[in-house]
Amino acid sequence: MSHAFWKQVLVEQAVRNRHASGSWLPYGDSMVQVNKYGRRVVNEKSPYNERSQIHFHWNPSKREYSNVLMFMIWDETVASNPEEWGHRPPVPMPGETMPYVIVGATWEDLADKIDARLASLEAHTGGVRLDASFTDNLRTTIGRFNEFAISGVDVDFNRGETPIEIDWNGAGRVGSVNPTMAPFRADGPFYCVILGAGVLDTNGGPKINTKAQVLGADAQPIPGLYGAGNCIASINGQAYWGPGATIGPALTYGYLAGINAASEPIKKL
Ligand SMILES: Cc1cc2nc3c(=O)[nH]c(=O)nc-3n(C[C@H](O)[C@H](O)[C@H](O)COP(=O)(O)OP(=O)(O)OC[C@H]3O[C@@H](n4cnc5c(N)ncnc54)[C@H](O)[C@@H]3O)c2cc1C
Repeated sequence: MSHAFWKQVLVEQAVRNRHASGSWLPYGDSMVQVNKYGRRVVNEKSPYNERSQIHFHWNPSKREYSNVLMFMIWDETVASNPEEWGHRPPVPMPGETMPYVIVGATWEDLADKIDARLASLEAHTGGVRLDASFTDNLRTTIGRFNEFAISGVDVDFNRGETPIEIDWNGAGRVGSVNPTMAPFRADGPFYCVILGAGVLDTNGGPKINTKAQVLGADAQPIPGLYGAGNCIASINGQAYWGPGATIGPALTYGYLAGINAASEPIKKL
């Protein structure tokens, strides 16, 4: 059971309710996700399953999971955009306040407030706090991101290059070269939510072959035993690509399992 179908969730909601809203496609063009070092480590607009796996990246140089928590940060232009959009949460509508949204007047103020919030969550997070380099690195990250937003090309993480990223992005800004990116405002306020990994469903279990036959430890089919859906090891491995990646293979291999099971010789006791 080394994998699952993943999404990002609001850590504070998860701590409070043991259930949390997911961030399917993070909203906003002047928006980034950074780790505790203030660095981008993923294409923020990539599908939820693919993106969320960044939380599990083991950093051998630091001997830690540097991205176990991620910080989704946006500016006032995103915050005050009145667009109603299914993928807008956790960004509140203008005038709405949410307890999990951290607001800072400047980058320094935002970092201080994020770190204070992390301190209050230490019992649940293994003690993750911002690194001392966070604010300096964040400035550099935002500066580099702004250059990508102006050119329309995310040289680091290819943001906005696939159709689902555009389709699930919302309207975007008039005149944007790449509708998933826009430069951050120079001045605050700036906003942040803390994200962690959440599970939609498990996808480990016995392996099957292309006939949907369950394989034994010797990699040979176990006679008469078939599997499909979330109870077998995902045929996609770690990949998902987009919505339908659970139901599509489940239907396909369920169908194959039915066809092949029906053609099994009748067994006599
Ligand atoms: C709200 C929601 C939205 C989703 N949206 C999407 C989407 O847009 N695209 C997508 O691809 N996936 C989506 N999914 C995921 C997808 O629905 C599941 O991954 C998929 O249905 C799993 O199929 P399954 O056949 O493996 O399991 P299930 O559909 O859970 O079927 C298992 C069946 O086994 C039965 N069962 C359990 N125990 C026993 C027992 N002991 N004896 C007999 N029967 C038993 C259950 O009653 C159930 O009918 C969504 C899931 C949810 C909850």
